[in-house]
Amino acid sequence: MSNMAPKKGDLNDDEKDLIAQINAGDISQVKTLLSKNNVRVDCLDENGMTPLQHAAYKAQTDICQVLLKNGADVNSNQHEHGYTALMFAALSGNLEVTRVMLEAGARTSTVNTVGRTASQMAAFVGQHAVVSLINNFFSREELDHYTKPQGVEKEPKLPPSLADCVHKLILMSNLNPVKIILHLQENPEFQDELVTVARLLDTLCTKFMKQSETNEVMAMKVHYQGCVLREAHKWLVEKNDTLQNLMKYFLKGREKDGFPVAQEKFLRLSIRSFPYHESELLQQIVHNVAPVTVGDDPTALSILVSAINGHQSAAAEDQCFTCGELQAEKKCSACKKVKYCGQACQKLHWFTHKKVCATLKAEYLQEQELAQKMKQQSLEGQEVNGGGGTEQQTSTTGDGDPGTEISNGAAHSGNEPQDEEDINIEIVEADGDLEITET
Ligand SMILES: [Zn+2]
Ligand SMILES: [Zn+2]
Repeated sequence: MSNMAPKKGDLNDDEKDLIAQINAGDISQVKTLLSKNNVRVDCLDENGMTPLQHAAYKAQTDICQVLLKNGADVNSNQHEHGYTALMFAALSGNLEVTRVMLEAGARTSTVNTVGRTASQMAAFVGQHAVVSLINNFFSREELDHYTKPQGVEKEPKLPPSLADCVHKLILMSNLNPVKIILHLQENPEFQDELVTVARLLDTLCTKFMKQSETNEVMAMKVHYQGCVLREAHKWLVEKNDTLQNLMKYFLKGREKDGFPVAQEKFLRLSIRSFPYHESELLQQIVHNVAPVTVGDDPTALSILVSAINGHQSAAAEDQCFTCGELQAEKKCSACKKVKYCGQACQKLHWFTHKKVCATLKAEYLQEQELAQKMKQQSLEGQEVNGGGGTEQQTSTTGDGDPGTEISNGAAHSGNEPQDEEDINIEIVEADGDLEITET
């Protein structure tokens, strides 16, 4: 490889061939060309695009890795519109190639000539999964730094055995407190170190705010996660209680409509305790949360999620009522108004859902009746078929959504009943919905 400083459009024949082979996806030709002395890995075409940027735009993950191994500059910013390799990856909509750029150290705060970051560009073209990936990225190397004692420290800030589950926590895009508690439940060793990890998250929060490229999104996220961990510590150690009961505390709905007031208040307090009051992101979130009466939409959680993950269209429709996981497909078979990702989540929610289930069922039936009437009016004479359900015709919901509620997907195995239940309940799967009965 030559060390000549690349100039726009100054390509020799081999470099032109390199870009052609990248666009054709021929990795072996790319490798051969890169081994030649006259081929500069960061050469620039007439638009100022590097080979890596071409490969990122074409979502050629393997070729990107070869180029990076050969020293390609992931942050090259000579493109005529100021696009970086991460921006091209984001525009491609490909998660894998975006991750490769992030792991190679792509800066997320660089803006193009119209002032947009890679994440904003991805949002602009509707690549929401990419937006979420960029906004929530935190490399394992960065975390591993804290598993070794630094300076005068005798102990590292993070016990190395916890690095895996803490890294998972930081990358989680689901911010539902119940989901975070479920993650703690799955990792019992985590439960002994809640304060240690919360302190580490404070350190990271400060770092995200004080580093030269401020990352308010990650600062807010780790701050909030730290709040949940401290709450868990409070329940386990100070109250000598269980994580199961903490989740119930977060889920308990108020009498009149089942709205989880305690969760809303916890979210609001957590947001307000963010220590960097000058943060624009904080001000934006508070501005959106403050005028909403507790119990109305949008919830503080949904505002926090869209501030951190970018706007996710229609995501709320498919969320598990308990843990917030997306693509929840199981419905309560009685009321059909709440969705769950599986039996464990329905079971966890039942103690409070059962108080409003009958009311919701009445609402659902009313909606069905109305929808049926409207359908008869608009589709006169046409035969209507249910979406594969034999139990009843439920292919149309009030909002005209096609028949998605009857899922014939593989049965969720579900967890065995926990010992600490105040009620005995049994869940039976019927036509993909979850039927719950107290025994
Ligand atoms: Zn769930
Ligand atoms: Zn129900």
